[in-house]
Amino acid sequence: MDCLFCKIASGSIPVTHLFETDQLLAFPDINPQAPTHILIIPKLHFSSLAHTTSEQAGLLGQLLTAAAEIAQQQQLAAGYRLVINTGPDGGQTVGHLHVHLLGGRHMSWPPG
Ligand code: AMP
Ligand code: ZN
Repeated sequence: MDCLFCKIASGSIPVTHLFETDQLLAFPDINPQAPTHILIIPKLHFSSLAHTTSEQAGLLGQLLTAAAEIAQQQQLAAGYRLVINTGPDGGQTVGHLHVHLLGGRHMSWPPG
């Protein structure tokens, strides 16, 4: 499949592996929006959060617990933000489910 994050997951596009399990991979965002900006992806392809069901509850839980573990590794004790852009109105640009982990600065609300 011609999917950028599948190529990253399979290693055919090399990235810095910040965290990895059999199911997940985390790597730096190429266009960081905060001092720490990391993407966490499942190695299996799901086009977006909207393409998951309760069958993926375990995997989705792993994405969140991995984010918390990575945030701790990255020393984001002051806090951080997780974002899952979903679909066109959600601002999703890469069609492979991913969690953004943003930190190292104060986040405003509401988001843009
Ligand atoms: P989204 O807009 O939520 O779909 O996020 C896609 C993210 O992927 C953006 O923040 C991009 O900067 C990031 N991105 C695109 N290509 C790469 C790449 N080759 N390596 C790392 N991050 C990427
Ligand atoms: Zn993919």
